[in-house]
Amino acid sequence: MPPGFHHGWRGPFAAILSLTAFVAGVAGSGCAPAAPARARNVILFIGDGFGMNQLTFGIAYASEVRGRPLRMSELADAGSAGYSIPFSYARITTDSAAAATQMATGRRVLTETLSVDPETAEPLPTLLEWAEAEGLATGLVANMRLTHATPAAFKVHAKSRYVPESELADQLFGEPHVEVLLGGGGRAMIPAGTTLGESVPGLPAATDGPSNREDDRSLIAEAKERGFAVVGDRAGLEAARGAERLLGVFAASHLPYVLDRSWEGLDDFVPTLAELTGAAVASLEGHEAGFFLVVEGGLIDYAGHENDAGAMLAEIVDFDEAVGVGFDFARSRDDTLVLVTADHGTGGFSFTYGPGGPGPFPTAVFPDYSAGPEMAGVRHLELLAAQRRSLIEAMPEVSSPATAESVLAVIEEATGIRLTGEEAADLAEQLNAETAAPRDFGTYYLDGSTVPVALAARQLANHTQVVWSTGGHTSDPVLLLGYGPGADGVLGIGENTRVHGIIRNAFGWE
Ligand SMILES: [Zn+2]
Repeated sequence: MPPGFHHGWRGPFAAILSLTAFVAGVAGSGCAPAAPARARNVILFIGDGFGMNQLTFGIAYASEVRGRPLRMSELADAGSAGYSIPFSYARITTDSAAAATQMATGRRVLTETLSVDPETAEPLPTLLEWAEAEGLATGLVANMRLTHATPAAFKVHAKSRYVPESELADQLFGEPHVEVLLGGGGRAMIPAGTTLGESVPGLPAATDGPSNREDDRSLIAEAKERGFAVVGDRAGLEAARGAERLLGVFAASHLPYVLDRSWEGLDDFVPTLAELTGAAVASLEGHEAGFFLVVEGGLIDYAGHENDAGAMLAEIVDFDEAVGVGFDFARSRDDTLVLVTADHGTGGFSFTYGPGGPGPFPTAVFPDYSAGPEMAGVRHLELLAAQRRSLIEAMPEVSSPATAESVLAVIEEATGIRLTGEEAADLAEQLNAETAAPRDFGTYYLDGSTVPVALAARQLANHTQVVWSTGGHTSDPVLLLGYGPGADGVLGIGENTRVHGIIRNAFGWE
């Protein structure tokens, strides 16, 4: 039995039921340790695009393939679990900007806006700004650009998340100063005409890129002047451990997908989200008054937009390991609240069932059972877990025009799955169409660059029992887990705006 798995073996459905039991207010076997009424520290984990079926995917993989539960399942068992409804201002679906703003400010806001009032466009104070005003240290960690919607909403006020990135970066680095910034997006932090590698030591060439600023300002040089340690790779991050002010910029844009880091030999350079979280906590815990830290697992969402299930699984696991770092920190003391949630689901991802028969079950007892459909099961999870490279990076290598042979080779190399000749020919034909789009709900693939992978996903469904319905976001409720002082606030079902109040209450702010 793996350590920490104290309930004995359970399949994924038992784990899901366990979460549900907490929602219903039924006590589990674990109780939060006696804790002070107030939190000194709060860590908020946001899985971007980490909807309910993404959670199921993670739970199923962890228990059925890996043989060790998710760290967030451990956290839920020891703490509390509820649901968050991600409605935005006058809308049922949301985007990351509105969802993060709602958690940061406690107000429903317009999609694509960053912490401004939906009627007046006046800035709304964020949790991070509250924390700074209370004398706490703060940190933002993401495997996306730090100017991207989720981290930005905690610090930036803008009528649109799509204003020039340099404006978002200027606000991110402006007062009140955030003590720890770890992520991507360096292209908006460096002078026009330069590359990120010129400003950041250790940055690998694969994640370097040119400035997209139009002025000579270097936010990185300014941060250095304010006493920040500046790092660009894993070794640098380790060497700067505990620095009071820490700026880690690991890519000009987003960090590469977990799968592609390994594929491209970047594992030694690009830190995992768990390593980023550990480094952030090591720096922030030195501050006397406590800290507020936001960690975003952003690439779950991107893989969901692309309909790339194997890449998404690796991102879910990466996010979960980061949650584990926060949980381990919190349970080693009694003054830290850890919240785990998501902003929305993405892609309409789900497992389903299809033709193929039920597999090797004791059909002597159920002689008619073999007539049924094949439910998604362990072998599908194993196929997805064996993916070696994101399809997002691989599909552009299909020949142009696409041929069945090229499609077959590219997909097999990336996923290990060999399409049938018929599937490959069908996919090649669709890729070559002038208006290539999925036959189902093709209008919901607003970003044309996601179409090749989405089309491949339709063929791969025959092998993986994974279906998708959109290239966009979905309206599913998302999980909200809590451990530590104030964790009971997550119980029940509420809008995501309540995250703001839970954290304010935990800190004891009026
Ligand atoms: Zn998204």
